[in-house]
Amino acid sequence: MDGSVTRRDFMKKSAQVGAASVAGAAALLTGSDDAEAKATWAEWFQTNYRLMTDDEKKEAIARLEKRYSEEYGKRVTVDGSPPMEGVLFGYALNIQKCIGCRRCVHACVRENNQSRHDPEIQWIRVIKLEKGNFSADDMNSGYPEGHGIQVGGNAYKNAGVVLEGQHYYEPEKVPEKDHFYLPIQCMQCEKPPCVKVCPVRTTYRDPDGVVVIDYNWCIGCRMCMGACPYWARRFNWAEPNLPPDEMNPRTHYLGNRPRMVGVVEKCTFCLQRSRKGRYTACVEVCPVGARKFGNLLDPESEVRKILDRKRVFRLRADLNTYPKFFYFID
Ligand code: SF4
Ligand code: SF4
Repeated sequence: MDGSVTRRDFMKKSAQVGAASVAGAAALLTGSDDAEAKATWAEWFQTNYRLMTDDEKKEAIARLEKRYSEEYGKRVTVDGSPPMEGVLFGYALNIQKCIGCRRCVHACVRENNQSRHDPEIQWIRVIKLEKGNFSADDMNSGYPEGHGIQVGGNAYKNAGVVLEGQHYYEPEKVPEKDHFYLPIQCMQCEKPPCVKVCPVRTTYRDPDGVVVIDYNWCIGCRMCMGACPYWARRFNWAEPNLPPDEMNPRTHYLGNRPRMVGVVEKCTFCLQRSRKGRYTACVEVCPVGARKFGNLLDPESEVRKILDRKRVFRLRADLNTYPKFFYFID
């Protein structure tokens, strides 16, 4: 199937056909000698990956491997590894160590086949924030003269400029004086609001705790993006731009396989790696060792030791989403 043809396109086309019978269309396509037409037909009508039998998964994977290998001019594998028994993945990030270099962002783009530009898609954001102090003197110097209630200078500079995080920062050197950095990506919430709102149940939590998306079933409604409190999901507004020579050919069906226009995507804790016992790309590339990853069910894992011994917090813990992405300080 041409990657630009989505289930939504198909539904639209089906509606245009009007009274033409689906059975008739099936006969036309399946009766055709055109292998691509047959593959297209099979892909349009395959069920959600979550509900497929093992044989159906094998067929779907074989179809994709063939198509991607032709499209990218190299041998592409699509893994279907299921979650490992006794594993619940968790992540911990030391915000005292992060220097804001964004190597993690770019390693993630390469590993996970994100669109390079138009649209530029990045699953990780690194937010630059000003270090704040809170002193009695600041209390009444926050708001512009004569405006508002004087409640604290940390939120506003004297000119009334709001101090907020930035993710488009281009300094000559990092880390910058008086700043710290907060990388954000999918938190793999234990109670994920994105899953609750998906009208076609194409996004779901797998037993190893990773929230996945079956791209073939995504209708692009973006309800999940609105529901996610962590700005973790991205939408392909245009056909993704993935140069063949930069394409990572080791993919997973529910992870870094190439996406189509009109679908949502996000971090999956590199499940093409992690389900094979490897670290995620962002953990491997971080030059200061700020990123830690492992099995939350194993008391001897590094991530569990961090949770037991360090000062740990989660973003927006008040929302009861129970992220499995923790931040810590030494
Ligand atoms: S690679 Fe490490 S130090 Fe650099 S921005 Fe990412 S987390 Fe921070
Ligand atoms: S961070 Fe957002 S996208 Fe990820 S599981 Fe939580 S709600 Fe869903």
